[in-house]
Amino acid sequence: MPHVLIVEDEPAIAATLMYACKEAGIASTHCLLGQEAVLAACKPNNPFNFVILDVGLPDMTGFDVCKKIRETSSIPILFLTARNHEIDRIVGLEIGADDYVTKPFSPREVVARVKAILRRTEIQSHKNASTFEVDEIANRIQYLGQYLELTRYEFLLLKTLVQYPKRVYSRNQLMDIVWANAENTLERTVDAHIKTLRAKLRSIDTSSEAIITHRGMGYSLLA
Ligand code: CA
Repeated sequence: MPHVLIVEDEPAIAATLMYACKEAGIASTHCLLGQEAVLAACKPNNPFNFVILDVGLPDMTGFDVCKKIRETSSIPILFLTARNHEIDRIVGLEIGADDYVTKPFSPREVVARVKAILRRTEIQSHKNASTFEVDEIANRIQYLGQYLELTRYEFLLLKTLVQYPKRVYSRNQLMDIVWANAENTLERTVDAHIKTLRAKLRSIDTSSEAIITHRGMGYSLLA
């Protein structure tokens, strides 16, 4: 069962949210102060998967609470906001919120958003966890739960791409990183290894598009 931390200094608003959570099969815990919320959300092994965070709190602003939490945690955060200029800050400053609603709001609408965001993050983490797993000690990589049979350079190449998915590496960058100690590496060496890597990924998943070619730029991993 998901567990939401509700940070709201108005008990009546918190109560309606807690009720809507309960109706939706979501556990919730309420706290009144920003400082309490930071402690609760940053404690190791805390039970929370989500934070609903009021912007106007008595001891610190919701923005500062969000920033503090973001120093240690990527837990989804939805802001409750009273005024329009607060929305500008949420949207414009990229302080790491996942969504916001303005007061007055329907508690059921808030809970629907919470559920949508939880679903999204769950899919995302499932994807990341299931695709590649690098075993640094054994110098091996699993793809979709199966070990790949890789040569030394294929391993280094794939490890490099996996480390920063979405980042586009040029052939020259890959040559510098992967073939750092090799002499006379050619761009087509990179291409040739990408080709054999793709074939190995497709021997596990025939429709694999995990490695993307960016024409004239280089390669990246699908993320
Ligand atoms: Ca408030």
